[in-house]
Amino acid sequence: MHLDLDPEQREFRDEVRTWLEENVPAGPLPPVTDQASLTERKAWERQLFDAGFAAVHWPTEHGGRGMDPLGTAIFYDEYLRADCPPRLNRLGLGLAGPTLIDLGTSSQQTRWLRNILSSDEIWCQGFSEPEAGSDLAGVRTRGEVSEEGILVNGQKIWTSHSLFADWMFALVRTDPDSTRHSGLTFLMVDMHDPGVEVRPIRQLNDVREFSEVFLTDVRVPRDNVVSEIGKGWKVAMTTLFHERGSSLNTAAHFRVMLTELIEALPPTLRQDSRVLTDIGRLYEEIEAYRYMTLRTLSELSFGSPVGPQASMGKLWWSELQVRLFELGLEALGPLAEAVDDPTLSNGLQNWRQRYWLARAALIYAGSNEIQRNIIAERVLGLPKGLPSAV
Ligand SMILES: Cc1cc2nc3c(=O)[nH]c(=O)nc-3n(C[C@H](O)[C@H](O)[C@H](O)COP(=O)(O)OP(=O)(O)OC[C@H]3O[C@@H](n4cnc5c(N)ncnc54)[C@H](O)[C@@H]3O)c2cc1C
Repeated sequence: MHLDLDPEQREFRDEVRTWLEENVPAGPLPPVTDQASLTERKAWERQLFDAGFAAVHWPTEHGGRGMDPLGTAIFYDEYLRADCPPRLNRLGLGLAGPTLIDLGTSSQQTRWLRNILSSDEIWCQGFSEPEAGSDLAGVRTRGEVSEEGILVNGQKIWTSHSLFADWMFALVRTDPDSTRHSGLTFLMVDMHDPGVEVRPIRQLNDVREFSEVFLTDVRVPRDNVVSEIGKGWKVAMTTLFHERGSSLNTAAHFRVMLTELIEALPPTLRQDSRVLTDIGRLYEEIEAYRYMTLRTLSELSFGSPVGPQASMGKLWWSELQVRLFELGLEALGPLAEAVDDPTLSNGLQNWRQRYWLARAALIYAGSNEIQRNIIAERVLGLPKGLPSAV
């Protein structure tokens, strides 16, 4: 297990740190609500692209830095430490791009990879449907295959970034007689097709980050199919493999948040033994998570596949994050309700809204109940289903 950085990793960390110090935007960038905010967010992504930092985990031949999981974590540690804006095209950079690198044809790679890297084209993920969430094999959106291409009809839901995305990678059922994992096809849908209708969903935190996406007679050329027609499940598993690998959140982020919170504590709460105990416990959990992540990253960097440890990591950081935000609600008091308050540091902005977003992490990227099932079955060796009396 790596505990210290080697000289090459230190050099990379220093390069990233220096560049970020000189370039990070002064204040938080706005969420995307209109063309102006989209342009502003894209400009930051463009800066990262020009500096060669758009996707350090991508192979060098596709414009990345060829970093292993540890190198990638070094980058994101620095990124979060420098208080940089959330990545705009994370579904393109983290999921669509790596899937195309693994399984796309060279003409598909030429068509899409560069524009993903530069964020000239933004991507969304069209997996979930009203009847297919945790059980993804329940996908019912239909794809009618003909010589010309695939005619897609159906509905996706909870599709993050679909309001401003240019492309969606989607799973559709192309064999009407199939059930479950067979007969599915993975394809790229042009979000500007007139048959695509995006209806935003207003979230608890008052943001419209995801939407329902209705697909009516959307014509998808055969060239937009990744792998083969009917082999979509295998492609989707490749995508989810990348999602599980990239859903490891960095401990540095939580350390920074906790430190800022401690600094923001009003004097009365600084003397409160219960609050101090909570802070101590969170600190302990963050450190434990740091070591857990280092172990996982070391294993991944030595070539081990993403296994159930990714589920343990996701479970740990998402629940830790909620507890951190709960402590913050108490510590910040009325300030937690403030939106874009200039007296607060970037890290303490919009606390209540971000608390709700933290709760969503218990659901997305595989709900925590599903992660617990994986741990129960693959780590603890428990049977798949327990009798209801137990
Ligand atoms: C903020 C956010 C962003 C999202 N973005 C996207 C996106 O961009 N693209 C996309 O495709 N999807 C996205 N999703 C959808 C997400 O992947 C699904 O919500 C998730 O997979 C759960 O599916 P579901 O909502 O249909 O719930 P269900 O699968 O219906 O589950 C309902 C409840 O039952 C539990 N449950 C289900 N099965 C089991 C089981 N076998 N054992 C124990 N408990 C179980 C679940 O944990 C959950 O609590 C997003 C979700 C959120 C919250």
